[in-house]
Amino acid sequence: MKLWKKLLFAAVIIVVAAALYLLISIRSISVEQVSPDLHVLFGVGSNTTVLNTDVGAVVIDSMTFPMQGALIRRMAEELTGKPVVLLINTHYHLDHTHGNPAFQEGTRVVSTERTLSHLKALDASFWEGDRAKLLPNDTFDDELKIELGNKTITLKTLGRGHTDGDLVAVIEEEKTIVMGDLFFNQHYPNIDLEAGGSVQEWPATLDAAFALEFETVVPGHGLITDRLGMRDFQRFMGQLATIGQMAVIDETPLEEALNSDQLNADKGYTEVTLAGISIGLNREFVLRRAWQESTGNFTRKN
Ligand SMILES: [Zn+2]
Repeated sequence: MKLWKKLLFAAVIIVVAAALYLLISIRSISVEQVSPDLHVLFGVGSNTTVLNTDVGAVVIDSMTFPMQGALIRRMAEELTGKPVVLLINTHYHLDHTHGNPAFQEGTRVVSTERTLSHLKALDASFWEGDRAKLLPNDTFDDELKIELGNKTITLKTLGRGHTDGDLVAVIEEEKTIVMGDLFFNQHYPNIDLEAGGSVQEWPATLDAAFALEFETVVPGHGLITDRLGMRDFQRFMGQLATIGQMAVIDETPLEEALNSDQLNADKGYTEVTLAGISIGLNREFVLRRAWQESTGNFTRKN
């Protein structure tokens, strides 16, 4: 075989292997049982919560791919023995919403009004045609209390942080709060300044969450934890906020801010990856975002 043929052959093998690995990763979703009626699904990139109620299954967030959405729907039906009657999107990002189109047309889909606005403005190309049928169809601004059979779910907006439209869900009977991406457990968070996210306001938004009643905390990314686990993350966000404020006072150039030794609450933090592929959510990213917000070096998109 000529050298170029060997190289081409090797390249094809590598691409096929990578595609297969990605496909297998996307299709693998693990389950953790929190209580008899509450399960958390861990997929590539993000978490999904499944609640069993007397009248049907509730799914919070739908991961990145319609293929994952189909798996989530099937798993929710198997875990609860009932169809999915309510789908909740904590915010607009694709890793929490692009599984929506796999759900039954006509399913009640709840989000905040801001999230629906972001979906339409910032992710319009995905939500074309039939997919638009699974956009949120029941929205609210501040609070929405949903009583479903034997369960009470209170959805709340607590302030800016990851975006300006995130909701948290308190499941009363389970003493559990589902934080969406207002909480990355042991991972560097995405901070979407362009959609109203804020390093500066994030710690106070978490304080508003701590004022609610719960014991168990389900983050948008990372493992299930408790109040103490979320306190650690709040301390991390607080340090970032201080670094941003000091950058303005000291007129710190970006390069210096990126090398700040004032951030040390990130011990053990790792990057969220997509099947092992970096998506840039690292220490440098969060320091840059803190600097950009405080110095006004970014542009709101919606
Ligand atoms: Zn997100």
